[in-house]
Amino acid sequence: MATQHISRYSTRKRVLVTGGAGFIGSHLCARLIEQGHEVLCVDNFFTGTRANIAPLLDHDSFELMRHDVTFPLYVEVDEIYNLACPASPVHYQFDPVQTTKTSVVGAVNMLGLAKRLRAPILQASTSEVYGDPSVHPQVESYWGNVNPIGPRSCYDEGKRCAETLFFDYNRQHGIPIKVIRIFNTYGPHMHPNDGRVVSNFIVQALRGQDITIYGDGQQTRSFCYVDDLVRGFMAMMATPNEVTGPINLGNPGEFTMLELAQIVIELTGSTSRLEHRPLPQDDPKQRRPDISKAKETLGWDVTIPLREGLVKTIDYFRGVVAREG
Ligand code: NAD
Ligand code: UDP
Ligand code: UDP
Repeated sequence: MATQHISRYSTRKRVLVTGGAGFIGSHLCARLIEQGHEVLCVDNFFTGTRANIAPLLDHDSFELMRHDVTFPLYVEVDEIYNLACPASPVHYQFDPVQTTKTSVVGAVNMLGLAKRLRAPILQASTSEVYGDPSVHPQVESYWGNVNPIGPRSCYDEGKRCAETLFFDYNRQHGIPIKVIRIFNTYGPHMHPNDGRVVSNFIVQALRGQDITIYGDGQQTRSFCYVDDLVRGFMAMMATPNEVTGPINLGNPGEFTMLELAQIVIELTGSTSRLEHRPLPQDDPKQRRPDISKAKETLGWDVTIPLREGLVKTIDYFRGVVAREG
């Protein structure tokens, strides 16, 4: 308990980031270290990589632990960010039972840890809790439209159950919880083969391959650059205990997949053409966050428009594709 005791008297905190070697987690770890905190990164490397955290490995304030959050974890920290969970449909459907276990059993374990330490815990929830939404844009008070037995359910229902656990630990045990619902986020460190639309389109454009549009391409998504999101995470963690969320974080700019493909082709200068493929089952038709609550509660807003964020992401993937040869 010594670390926790000492750090209570300073602004330097010891922070646990589960899923810290993943796309968003690696940016969060870097930002926390930049701000002078100590980071314990816990990851089972299912989708995360050492490369994502390579620049942090030699840092005195960074510690890496290979661990699966479906097993108990006894460590001493001041704050917990719970990000461990595969996030792209291709990855979370690869082993759907493990996906639900990670969301649900992982949440129980991290909440048990938070309860023992009396530490605030932030949950990386998702816009998928709204499913294929009939309310547009999505507000936090909307309960969603989710298929409980489809191929996306392991993720959607797992994340919904995790939210239930967070609110029950808050009501039953008084744990300070912070639930944020993340809308589609993109940026460097996305996995090149995770099948998500931004990484797919960029990698296809850079390789001169056809760009795969699922369905007619009229479905919409709203894309947030990772730096904006990470700022929102930290603003949420800094709120008083009575602020529990859920709070949407995302960029309200809404684009069809056809529009996204055109922008990626233009920014990469690619000669790629569009190829239509079948729309996956239960693919949401539209998605855009209402971020009024984040603006009011956190003073948070997005600062990086899609084109600007795509340029940075394309730069990153140019390096990845070049290394592949
Ligand atoms: P990611 O796949 O890059 O990161 C997830 C990380 O969790 C990986 O490093 C992975 O190895 C790790 N992990 C998976 N199962 C684990 C387990 N059982 N134990 C320990 N570690 C485990 O995905 P991401 O995009 O960085 O997503 C991070 C979090 O944000 C996830 O919880 C995801 O559901 C949520 N989220 C992301 C988005 C988005 O657009 N990127 C949108 C909504 C929600
Ligand atoms: N747990 C953990 N680390 C801790 C404390 C608890 O991983 O520091 C796990 C442990 O597996 C436990 C779960 O969290 O089963 C839930 O803990 P809680 O105290 O809520 O319940 P209980 O211990 O009664 O199961
Ligand atoms: N999509 C697409 N081509 C691709 C990958 C995805 O048209 O190569 C579509 C997909 O059908 C969905 C949208 O892009 O409508 C966003 O997909 P992603 O998997 O990135 O995120 P999610 O569906 O979880 O929001």
